[in-house]
Amino acid sequence: MTPPTSGTTGRALVVGAGIAGMATAIRLRQAGWQSTIVERSPNRRTGGYFIGLYPGGRNAAKSMGVYEHIHTRTPVPPRTWEVDSHENRTRGFGLIEHRDRPDAVLRGDIEEALWTCLDGVPVRFGVSPARIDERTDGVDVQLRDIATDSLSEERFDLVVGADGLRSTVRTLVFGEHKRFMKPLNAIICAFQLQEQVPHVAPRDNLILAEPGRSLWVFAFKDRAPTALLAYRTKDEDGQFTRPPREVLRDRFADVAHAEPIRHALEQLDQAPDLLFDSVHQVRMESWHTRRVVLMGDAAWCISLYSGQGASAGLLGADTLGRMIEKHPGDLAQALAAWERELRPFVRKQQFAARVKGHIFVPGNRLIGLMRRRLVRWGGKKLASMHTGAAAVPASRAEG
Ligand SMILES: Cc1cc2nc3c(=O)[nH]c(=O)nc-3n(C[C@H](O)[C@H](O)[C@H](O)COP(=O)(O)OP(=O)(O)OC[C@H]3O[C@@H](n4cnc5c(N)ncnc54)[C@H](O)[C@@H]3O)c2cc1C
Repeated sequence: MTPPTSGTTGRALVVGAGIAGMATAIRLRQAGWQSTIVERSPNRRTGGYFIGLYPGGRNAAKSMGVYEHIHTRTPVPPRTWEVDSHENRTRGFGLIEHRDRPDAVLRGDIEEALWTCLDGVPVRFGVSPARIDERTDGVDVQLRDIATDSLSEERFDLVVGADGLRSTVRTLVFGEHKRFMKPLNAIICAFQLQEQVPHVAPRDNLILAEPGRSLWVFAFKDRAPTALLAYRTKDEDGQFTRPPREVLRDRFADVAHAEPIRHALEQLDQAPDLLFDSVHQVRMESWHTRRVVLMGDAAWCISLYSGQGASAGLLGADTLGRMIEKHPGDLAQALAAWERELRPFVRKQQFAARVKGHIFVPGNRLIGLMRRRLVRWGGKKLASMHTGAAAVPASRAEG
């Protein structure tokens, strides 16, 4: 066992090499701490889906010196088309036209930048915690090497669980998933398109939102778009009993005549990777004990509806570093202050996400109608602000 360090700095174990984990390791290093990251996967993931990086996350990334390394792909001017299953198109507004002007990136663009900035922080792949025992003077962690199934034990001053929605650290220290994971009764599938939807300009976004299901196409300035198919269901578990492609084909069968859906389903067959998952929020009374803290989706998964998960991970990491610097030698105070500062932001975003879910996938016909009105009103406003709105054949454009 390695001895703990004492004084104003310490030794941290960060579990998870996603956005929240790498950002935390970077910020802890800046605060004078040594970190080790363990990542369950055998190697680093790349690519991923569209992410809107909002000012909260952008400013945190700037203050950590990471932002300048993030490759942004925001199409200029950003433009979104709303289409129905009869293929009537009208100007709409998407995430990227939000007044906060988020950057369009891939999740992998943020992770790549963080990876570049790790600056010597060791990352052990194929490793997961098997047991976590918190003591007054440190945390004893049993680590499992997944390939060999061998166990080793190490002592740290702090353990950061940044291991995502289905966090192992949360289970080992705080309790089972069902206590904290609140289903939002929807399934999403995110994947890369090889080609833009026919008759849509390469840098335009597209949304087809019907009651209970939707397709979102997120465009970038320098690569093909990513797509997101989403649908509502109360039987989340039942969606995982068949191959995702089969489930999606059934769910969208009666709107598959619409060109965007047909195109997305065809491209889905060719997509090398897809993310097929249920949508949850994580809600907890507290995100930390005396020496274990959860970060990012593990702590508060806001859900994709908010468009703030990545930003919250960056903000959470930066705030933790700041609070550790502000309370040198007093980890308990630092963690309490960190949570106090972050809670209002997360509470607000979680509430907003539950409302925004209906913009994403309308819950019923009435909401669908209201949503359409709202989107058309917003789209008209935007169209009057920009010129050159007609990127689709006039016969297809509505209104
Ligand atoms: C389709 C989609 C669209 C989204 N759009 C946006 C958006 O527009 N804007 C935005 O800000 N956010 C968005 N989000 C949310 C955002 O992607 C997440 O909130 C964010 O990536 C979470 O980062 P994380 O590091 O907390 O968790 P994760 O990305 O889940 O990373 C967790 C890491 O921990 C590892 N891990 C898991 N278990 C273990 C273990 N036992 N031991 C070791 N390692 C482990 C995993 O392999 C992974 O590398 C979107 C999410 C989805 C799904």
